[in-house]
Amino acid sequence: MVSNSNLPVAIIGGGPVGLAAAAQLVSRGLPVKVYEAGSSVGSNLLDWGHVRVFTPWRYCVDAVARKLLESHGWQMPEPEAFPTADEIVDQYLAPLAKLPELAPSIETDARVVAISRWGADKVLSKARETRPFMLLVETTEGTRRDSARAVIDASGTWQTPNPLGAGGLPAEGEREFGDRIAYGIPDVLGRDRHLYAGRTTLVGAGHSAANALLELDRLAETEPGTSALWVTRSTDLVRIYGGGDADALPARGELGSDVRHLAESGRIRLVTGFATLAIREVDGRLVVEGQTKDGLRNVGPVDRIIAATGQRPDLAVTRELRLDLDPWLEGVKALGPLIDPNEHSCGDVPPHGHRELSHPEPDFY
Ligand SMILES: Cc1cc2nc3c(=O)[nH]c(=O)nc-3n(C[C@H](O)[C@H](O)[C@H](O)COP(=O)(O)OP(=O)(O)OC[C@H]3O[C@@H](n4cnc5c(N)ncnc54)[C@H](O)[C@@H]3O)c2cc1C
Repeated sequence: MVSNSNLPVAIIGGGPVGLAAAAQLVSRGLPVKVYEAGSSVGSNLLDWGHVRVFTPWRYCVDAVARKLLESHGWQMPEPEAFPTADEIVDQYLAPLAKLPELAPSIETDARVVAISRWGADKVLSKARETRPFMLLVETTEGTRRDSARAVIDASGTWQTPNPLGAGGLPAEGEREFGDRIAYGIPDVLGRDRHLYAGRTTLVGAGHSAANALLELDRLAETEPGTSALWVTRSTDLVRIYGGGDADALPARGELGSDVRHLAESGRIRLVTGFATLAIREVDGRLVVEGQTKDGLRNVGPVDRIIAATGQRPDLAVTRELRLDLDPWLEGVKALGPLIDPNEHSCGDVPPHGHRELSHPEPDFY
């Protein structure tokens, strides 16, 4: 059997959290191996790179990563400025990943597809904690099995978006018309501009929805045929409208206020209390069918649909591990209630560490 000594701590994902964890481990002299599925670090961020985040630089840069970078002459960007996701990658994550302390430990184009323990499936308890982890890693050269003494899952949720269907299952027709449905935040004013100079239905009521709606409204200023129809499952939009000036993150408050203004001024049409059931094609365009308190209703027709319905973790990767997850948020139990959208707009999470992030599976976080 492979021995645990000298094995690295495996980190799944080279995003802001994975690279901060790597910097912290390296600074403590521990061997580390970062697996990044994309062709560069921060590849999820690059997907929505045009979006300006609502936390200023001082919240985006890990303290130990900053120290490491500064020891090589890097300069912290203006701490109170708000970067776009592209800027976070270009000005922080990419330089961090190139440092001699980290670069040899980071592998890109390496997707971890499953994790277990050498010689022990989920059921076997005997000497479990002494068996190294086994990671199935898919690369351009094929699939290999790597070993690790501990695993930190920093893979995020971006790559597993929720479907349009209000019940959490794909709406009827969602797969069939998938070529006209975008998940997350398309780059309406840039890369994807040519697709959105028409009619769009946006489904969802979070900050991604707000960003996309504001961009569609800006596109309409220069592309006259552009219009947006906003559909939400909830009738209470306080979560997205937020606390305005009173928001703990003022830039987030501003986003909420701006989208509220957009809806209340009638510049976009808003349909609330609409539980999406099906997508149908009528005369070459898409109609969304949903359940409302007054019965079935159709909205549209439109050219495209944006599903800003959130994301969830990909639990298939950790299926062979012993996890104790929040029953509906599917994150660690200690933090679930603090960020539950049934209770909070975004939630307040106090600083936390290995105790809160641990699971019944020893050495998995
Ligand atoms: C529009 C938008 C705005 C946001 N604004 C803010 C904000 O203002 N402030 C804030 O704090 N947060 C914000 N967030 C949340 C933000 O996504 C996170 O704070 C941050 O990206 C979390 O970093 P992460 O490293 O956990 O995950 P990610 O950035 O998602 O990185 C995960 C990485 O893991 C890789 N990966 C995934 N699966 C695998 C696998 N199986 N094997 C190997 N690699 C894998 C991905 O390619 C990716 O590089 C925002 C999110 C969105 C979508």
